Amino acid sequence: MSSKHTYAEWRARAAALSIEGRAFIDGGYVDAVSGKTFDCINPANGAVLARIAECDAEDAEYAVAAARHAFEAGVWSRMAPRERKTVLIRFAQLIEDHTEELSLLESLDAGKPIGDTTRIDIPAAVRCVRFNGEAVDKLYDEVAPTPDDALGLVTREPVGVVAAIVPWNFPILMASWKFAPALAAGNSVILKPSEKAPLTAIRIARLAQQAGIPNGVFNVLPGFGGTVGKALALHMDVDCVAFTGSTAVGKQIMQYAGQSNLKRAWMECGGKTPNIVFADCPDLDAAARAAAFGIFYNQGEMCTAGSRLLVAASIKDAFLEKVIAAGEAMQPGDPLDPATRMGAIVDDIQLDRVMGYIEAGRAGGATLRLGGERVMNETGGYFIAPTIFDNVTNDMKIAREEIFGPVLSTIAFTDEAEAIRIANDSPYGLAAAVWTSNLSRGHRVARRLRAGSVWVNCFDEGDMTVPFGGYKQSGNGRDKSLHAIDKYVELKATWIDLSR
Ligand code: NAD
Repeated sequence: MSSKHTYAEWRARAAALSIEGRAFIDGGYVDAVSGKTFDCINPANGAVLARIAECDAEDAEYAVAAARHAFEAGVWSRMAPRERKTVLIRFAQLIEDHTEELSLLESLDAGKPIGDTTRIDIPAAVRCVRFNGEAVDKLYDEVAPTPDDALGLVTREPVGVVAAIVPWNFPILMASWKFAPALAAGNSVILKPSEKAPLTAIRIARLAQQAGIPNGVFNVLPGFGGTVGKALALHMDVDCVAFTGSTAVGKQIMQYAGQSNLKRAWMECGGKTPNIVFADCPDLDAAARAAAFGIFYNQGEMCTAGSRLLVAASIKDAFLEKVIAAGEAMQPGDPLDPATRMGAIVDDIQLDRVMGYIEAGRAGGATLRLGGERVMNETGGYFIAPTIFDNVTNDMKIAREEIFGPVLSTIAFTDEAEAIRIANDSPYGLAAAVWTSNLSRGHRVARRLRAGSVWVNCFDEGDMTVPFGGYKQSGNGRDKSLHAIDKYVELKATWIDLSR
């Protein structure tokens, strides 16, 4: 199996890859109408991996027309649910069969460790597509409790053409959280991957077609957000835009929806997760490992990154030593080396951003306890050492803004009320974690935390059966679970008069 490959074998396989960079519209790979391309860079060495079609508004027109045509034709939208199920399960299987190739593309494109892409990203995307496929013919509609002389039917119908605009940190997984429930519900989808990591989205378009998804139902438009992304979000014939990305861009997309056709706009945005460790934590070693993993996994490029470590003052110093030891063990390495636990930052822009926050932490008076520098410069890639600050206060820039890199801020608290106050004092509300042996406290604090996910005595757990999404400026709507399908359907009420 693929995870058994050595470093040398992965490099040889990477060198032998043939990479597709064109858009996928109406069942075929095509260049952008303008003929323009942009370079796709490997963040582990700065080398050009492929030239990618730079789609723009004109390409969006073609894709929307194809998606609308397929939707109206009913080739997918009116296909029997059990047949849609069969196709989606076949699509999941094809993704699984291509785990090795897709893992390589994801690692090369986004700098993610190959051990993670093979074991986490691709299998999770497979589970997502399979879950939604399996659900299709098990969802029943409703008959309303009307008076006896009427029949009220409450039915779900696909919303139409869905644009899915996604980020680069989990390229195939974030895409699957959108396109799988949207397709399951019978919609036509236009996927706009991030310009920083478009390769797996482009590749799976062909797999979708091979699985039997009709032409025009699944399209992929690579390109920049301000051009093709904006064109989709403003388009009068797109019925829904499902977005994962930064809060700033999410706000813009909601404006585009308002400026155009009031399309349904679902936002999954940034986070500043508080990870709260009480003095009665049941296992400080496990909590310390989880705290390090929670901020350094995926190079800290996580919407749920546990970037604010809130620790009871009575144990803070001893606990922080354990977190530092766990963090030290996560030094970055080549993403293609199976031993690597932390890979490359996605590009030079993100690297500069994260380094700017580290500088702000120092200048703001926080105490640097680990890392704080760019490393592995000789590779030509973008690597940052795991970085830990102590003596952070919640009003500092590094505690308020999403850094999206391997930078941890440690904040001390004195009692439960203060921990909750600090945790909730953030514009974000994506996730939170609580470590305590006290059952009542665990539940009590979980209830008080204004976050879409709360983990008790663990960090970043969940699976396809539980919804995922944010409170406050972390977004609206939910990905995953059966609730995700609600975003891609209209509820129709049909009232039938039975009196005559
Ligand atoms: P981003 O907001 O810069 O870009 C996300 C997507 O939006 C990209 O495809 C981009 O091209 C596109 N885009 C940019 N400007 C646009 C515009 N004006 N109109 C339309 N589309 C536009 O985010 P990013 O840097 O790719 O990703 C990091 C962000 O994603 C972080 O804030 C992270 O927290 C968030 N994220 C959230 C979740 C979640 O589920 N809540 C999951 C993963 C990542």
